[in-house]
Amino acid sequence: MTTSEVQVADFQLSPELLEFQQKVRSYAQQHLGGAAEYDAETKFPREPVEAAGKLGLLRTTVAKEYGGSAMGNLASCVMLEEINAACVSTGVTISVHNSLVNSLLGKWCNAEQKARWFPKLITGEWLGAYCLSEAYSGSDAAALRCTAEKQGDHYVMNGAKLWITTGSDAELFVIFARTAEDRVKGISAFVVEGSWDGVGVGKKERKLGLRGSPTTEIVLENVKVPADCLIDQEGNGFTIALDTLDGGRLGIASQGLGIARAAIDLIGEHLSNQKDKRGRPAASQPDQWQFADLASELDAYRFLTWRAATLRDRGIRCSTEAAMAKSCASRLSNRAARAAVSILGLVGAAGNNPAERLLRDARITEIYEGATDIQRLVIARGLLA
Ligand SMILES: Cc1cc2nc3c(=O)[nH]c(=O)nc-3n(C[C@H](O)[C@H](O)[C@H](O)COP(=O)(O)OP(=O)(O)OC[C@H]3O[C@@H](n4cnc5c(N)ncnc54)[C@H](O)[C@@H]3O)c2cc1C
Repeated sequence: MTTSEVQVADFQLSPELLEFQQKVRSYAQQHLGGAAEYDAETKFPREPVEAAGKLGLLRTTVAKEYGGSAMGNLASCVMLEEINAACVSTGVTISVHNSLVNSLLGKWCNAEQKARWFPKLITGEWLGAYCLSEAYSGSDAAALRCTAEKQGDHYVMNGAKLWITTGSDAELFVIFARTAEDRVKGISAFVVEGSWDGVGVGKKERKLGLRGSPTTEIVLENVKVPADCLIDQEGNGFTIALDTLDGGRLGIASQGLGIARAAIDLIGEHLSNQKDKRGRPAASQPDQWQFADLASELDAYRFLTWRAATLRDRGIRCSTEAAMAKSCASRLSNRAARAAVSILGLVGAAGNNPAERLLRDARITEIYEGATDIQRLVIARGLLA
């Protein structure tokens, strides 16, 4: 692509999507009021996630023939912005389940595999986790060392995955492991069920933000993985991992939008409440300028995110556009949360104010599913190719 190519220009959500957005907003009001508690107690938001399953929010990226609603990426982005504006820990759980696990299985698994796992995943009876990162393999994902050695009708898997979202609460793991030496073509993708012998949850990370979302090590010790749990074909794991991350980044871009929106709303409320002795608006001009800039950027990056989602829904590769959306929205979430804490002052920095939590949560959007500098490399490579 070039920067001058116009690929999508439809600024109006369909009536169905507007109705869906309203439905998710009501869900957020009803079920996501406990964000502060999940954060303070590092407690998994089980009730909201179960409620999301009942309401059909865990099936948006699954085809109708497997019980999904097939609403796609744009709908998922609309949904994830609403959820993350209220509770980021719930947001990341649903984002990983839908964008990294269900999407991947839907695109790369065969019919028999989908029929086996989707019934439990679309209801939330099972939650999914995406296991790519390891101790020596973060941004450089192809450096992974976890192995899966073919022995007759199964593979024997060994290694440890690190920083796995929902690690302690997931029942199904998509695991990327080495089946051959070649750095990229030696990587394969598998489904591994949490109940199998040799699958263990290791240390739980203590984190800056997203404290309600458990991030854990997944230890794999001589796990016997049936050959029919290989996803697609041997050696295609890296392609699957990167393709899936294009969709995942739309989820994190939407998370950034949700955080930014919540922070901007806090600033707006604070400025509206500032009155002079006669009751006239008294917010300072610099604060209003900052508020105006952040709100403008929020609109701009929402369109950037929805453009990438629309391209993906149309089956058009969107690596560059997804990276643009993720890097811009995640950085905005940090600026907006920082501004909220600054403008609200003491109140904003207090532990019981959402601004403080948003600032901690926002930081992580720039790290996972590709750190900001990596997104910038993806964008530059896409434009220069
Ligand atoms: C809360 C949380 C949840 C996570 N959940 C998951 C999960 O569910 N599944 C999963 O597989 N992983 C998960 N991760 C891991 C995450 O994807 C990695 O942290 C991320 O890929 C970055 O890897 P790293 O932390 O090893 O950083 P590094 O790769 O060490 O990078 C550190 C810094 O160096 C920069 N850098 C690295 N290489 C380059 C380069 N070539 N050029 C320029 N700059 C570079 C990066 O931009 C970054 O700023 C999670 C992480 C967090 C924090």
